[in-house]
Amino acid sequence: MIPYFGLESQEKLLKSKVLVVGAGGLGSPVIMYLAAAGVGNLTIVDFDTVEKSNLQRQVIHSGKIGWNKAESAKDFAEKLNPDVNVEAIKDEIEPENVMKIIKGHDVVVSCPDNFRTRFILNDACRIVDIPLVHAAVFEFEGEAMTIKSTPCYRCLYPVAPPSKTPGIIGATPGVMGCIQAVEALKIITGIGETLSGLLRIDLQTMEIFNIEVRPNKECPICSGKLKKIHPENYLNLCKVVKF
Ligand SMILES: [Zn+2]
Repeated sequence: MIPYFGLESQEKLLKSKVLVVGAGGLGSPVIMYLAAAGVGNLTIVDFDTVEKSNLQRQVIHSGKIGWNKAESAKDFAEKLNPDVNVEAIKDEIEPENVMKIIKGHDVVVSCPDNFRTRFILNDACRIVDIPLVHAAVFEFEGEAMTIKSTPCYRCLYPVAPPSKTPGIIGATPGVMGCIQAVEALKIITGIGETLSGLLRIDLQTMEIFNIEVRPNKECPICSGKLKKIHPENYLNLCKVVKF
């Protein structure tokens, strides 16, 4: 019913193929809204198992404690929209499998809970030129960035900051995951403008920041120096040490 969206865009969605990495707090709204919108082919990657403590934010796994999260998300998406073809991959994104997993997708939506997976996805998606929609959350705060060319995630963070498991208000990944879903829909249909820099939202103060991200001349990805995924680049700080 949106005049400039129409049947043509709906058909684009049905033909599209989207990879969602992580079926947790961010992945839940992403999977829910992409399936509901009629994205025809969804691939969901998660190795983890649903635990009771996940359910305050991982809302698609209701009643499925003990299930693999990718399988549970597939079950949810297929019940919501039987027209969606869902593939569940019970695995972790690794340097060894990332190229095979991302191949053939129109968009990759990055919803993991760790920096290593974000770096592997950034580097792999830039090398084969697949748009990537990143988000991350901490307590009441979230960030999002859509990477279609330079600047990339490594321009923003050349190495991984120290990682610790944050506490999260469940609605925070709800907000950020919905933003990721809208970004993916815009990429597929070509309607609207995707994020041009880093979006930061503080839900405690309701402040929203659009931060400019400049291409980093030293970035091994954007300079075109890194052309392959080497496992050596994803240890500790995820610093690129091998080209
Ligand atoms: Zn870069």
